[in-house]
Amino acid sequence: ALWIGEFVTANEGGRTVTAPGGKYAERFGGQLVLVTGAGSGIGRATAYAFAESRARVIAVDRDAEGAARTAEMSRLLGAPEAWAETVDVSDEQAMEKLADKVAAEYGVVDVLVNNAGIGLAGSFFDTTPEDWKKVLDVNLWGVIHGCRLFGKQMAERGQGGHIVNTASAAAYQPSKALPAYSTSKAAVLMLSECLRAELAGQGIGVSAICPGFVNTNITSTARFAGVDAEEEKRRQKRTARLYGLRNYPPEKVADAILRAVVRNEAVVPVTPEARGAHLLSRFTPRA
Ligand code: NAD
Repeated sequence: ALWIGEFVTANEGGRTVTAPGGKYAERFGGQLVLVTGAGSGIGRATAYAFAESRARVIAVDRDAEGAARTAEMSRLLGAPEAWAETVDVSDEQAMEKLADKVAAEYGVVDVLVNNAGIGLAGSFFDTTPEDWKKVLDVNLWGVIHGCRLFGKQMAERGQGGHIVNTASAAAYQPSKALPAYSTSKAAVLMLSECLRAELAGQGIGVSAICPGFVNTNITSTARFAGVDAEEEKRRQKRTARLYGLRNYPPEKVADAILRAVVRNEAVVPVTPEARGAHLLSRFTPRA
């Protein structure tokens, strides 16, 4: 790893990866951080940012190869220890097994980032009950399992901690193109707020991160089922024209996640259009 100012840059299979978090150097030193959906995109960038700040990192993803790669890079970036765990966050039993294993082998998690999520585009009537179930199973139930299992361990230990849930600007910005996805994220936002109220007295913070459009696999045509390549291109252009942004990098979302933990922020709109939509929404922006 090569230090350049605030950023650390390392070469990942020919691609240059830049992890933010230099400003939080040592801030998470020795802390145990678990990130779900860490095999790609925002989760991977978040694992790297915590690694750079010397946290011990558990990279969880259903994609074994992606998680392994993130753990390996996390060690290179400065994590004293990093592990990969292959788990589907929507699988309650698998999550229970993970929680038991983590407690027994690595310790109680100080920071939990429930970030795994899947995208689904399509009108309300094009969205089948199976589609709804799939999206809610991962995006909502995955977060519920994580909060229940690891939040309980944090509370029982009695030394505080922090839970970050990746919601989305879609949580407060209705869209006829993303009914299931937006509903799942609105639920994650509310869940986060309720749990924040419940855990406040125990020194455990809960943050909901709400990015707008970020350049990751989830927003590429291949993963975002139902959106064709041309439509996707048009959408990206429109977003760029409207908000003067292009290719908002996942590293900047990771930076917002670390800041949310440090400052104990509640609801965190990340990209410019997410901030705009948040101001116009019914949700009062607050720290
Ligand atoms: P991504 O597709 O690059 O990463 C998602 C990761 O989650 C992948 O590695 C995938 O394998 C993993 N994953 C998916 N389902 C899983 C499951 N059931 N169990 C375990 N792992 C699973 O996408 P991303 O943009 O990095 O998404 C991360 C989070 O950010 C998601 O919750 C997403 O909804 C949210 N988000 C993304 C954007 C955006 O524009 N990219 C905007 C707002 C919110």
